[in-house]
Amino acid sequence: MTNTTREEVFVTEKPFETWFAYSAGTVCSEFLTELRDNKKILGRKCPECGRVLVPARPTCARCFRQTEGWREVGHTGTVVSYTAVYEPSPGRDNVQPALFGIIRLDGADTGFVHMLGEVDPKDLRVGLKVQAVFDEERQGDIRDIKYFKPLK
Ligand SMILES: [Zn+2]
Repeated sequence: MTNTTREEVFVTEKPFETWFAYSAGTVCSEFLTELRDNKKILGRKCPECGRVLVPARPTCARCFRQTEGWREVGHTGTVVSYTAVYEPSPGRDNVQPALFGIIRLDGADTGFVHMLGEVDPKDLRVGLKVQAVFDEERQGDIRDIKYFKPLK
């Protein structure tokens, strides 16, 4: 065998569909249970940097310390970034465009990525105050919050 590199690269394009199971772990399971049963949005506090992480995580990505203690944060927050997606995607209603935001919930120190609704894309801006809209039939899924809408 020679130590050469092939210059011919094959590319295959085919549809890819898969199902998977996701184990949320104890911290995220508690987060999702409170979201489903009590409409509470919970974070965890990092003992090193003091940040409240939402959604709740077992470890701080900045300090690599295990988080401690639960903190309930508000249903309201501020859009810190957003985008519009014009491509359809499985698992959502395919409203065009789909709007996604990073929301800093009141009482949290991290961004919460979620959908935005009941808002015209031209009215979106960084700093927009928003509030969570919960699904009436919650299942212990991040989509128990349907989306965040502008606060009136
Ligand atoms: Zn930390």
